[in-house]
Amino acid sequence: MSKLLVIGETRDGSLRNVTFEAIAAAKKIDSDGEVVGVLCGNGELESQANEMVYYGADRVIAIKHDNLKTYTSEGFGQAIMAVINDESPAAIVMGHTAIGKDLTPKIASKLEAGLISDATDIEVDGDKVVFTRPIYSGKAFEKKIITSDITFVTVRPNNITAFDRDESRTGEISSKDVEVTDIRTVIKDVIRKVSEGVDLSEAKVIVAGGRGVKSEDGFKPLQELADLLGGAVGASRGACDAEYCDYSLQIGQTGKVVTPDLYIACGISGAIQHLAGMSNSKVIVAINKDPEANIFNVADYGIVGDLFEVVPMLIEEIKKI
Ligand code: FAD
Repeated sequence: MSKLLVIGETRDGSLRNVTFEAIAAAKKIDSDGEVVGVLCGNGELESQANEMVYYGADRVIAIKHDNLKTYTSEGFGQAIMAVINDESPAAIVMGHTAIGKDLTPKIASKLEAGLISDATDIEVDGDKVVFTRPIYSGKAFEKKIITSDITFVTVRPNNITAFDRDESRTGEISSKDVEVTDIRTVIKDVIRKVSEGVDLSEAKVIVAGGRGVKSEDGFKPLQELADLLGGAVGASRGACDAEYCDYSLQIGQTGKVVTPDLYIACGISGAIQHLAGMSNSKVIVAINKDPEANIFNVADYGIVGDLFEVVPMLIEEIKKI
């Protein structure tokens, strides 16, 4: 039976959703394989380990060390290499997040192993595992196989459906001592921008505003709509450049890549660089007063109109439900 390591990623003490999607992705690689979760940190990891089990991990290895308090590729790299040496897994899977993008190539290159980054689907074809990933900023998809003994994969958030949480699932949780030394990068403090509500990169619904929103205040109805739908607010670079909102909200080629179930683009023209970050969303609704706006070419539903009239109407109607 092959072993499939899933590296858990936490934020503010809780596991990120993409970790649960990575567990499901591991099972797609080998449905009979043993999914082994790996958690690194310096505090209590038991509750996160249990969560990994509830979402499908067969067992979880928790590595605690003072040098694993915050993520560094050196620290986490040493911890995960130690698990790889012990377990000889067939695959290592994690989210295509800032940490996943940083950590997996470093370990894969040390092991001279193949890496599929940003996988959106995984299928088994005979004795081959075929990975799908977007290329050319999402305009095309390529299918790839890995020929090395170990496969590294990062999975794009919101693409592979996680298993349902099942509290009756049980699995062994063990701790492992690893000497994490020679850390040249020391994180003194993490100052996180205060962002309330749903994490943009994992949101199922995104209401995004562009230059058409016209001001910081113009984002308020978009926030209200996003809150009603349990979603997050995003933005085009046009809106960020105009200082209507923070750059942390930027979606696109040089911003975040998102694939929510529903993307509502308000006052966004649909420049190619913006589409690169959102065109793989499952359903796209565009609100723009210019019927020729390029965003309508990727939209499933288009509303030609003034967003300051359309968005309040949507809010009113949703409140009635
Ligand atoms: P505009 O193009 O100005 O469009 C505003 C739209 O709002 C128009 O279509 C207008 O009809 C509509 N509108 C105006 N008023 C209303 C109203 N009241 N109601 C309804 N509609 C209204 N852009 C990104 O978004 N993300 C990126 O990551 C990114 N990376 C880039 C990287 C590079 C190297 C370069 C060169 C550019 C990049 N850009 C990126 C910028 C991109 O090219 C566009 O300039 C930007 O996306 C435009 O933003 P916008 O659609 O908000 O603004």
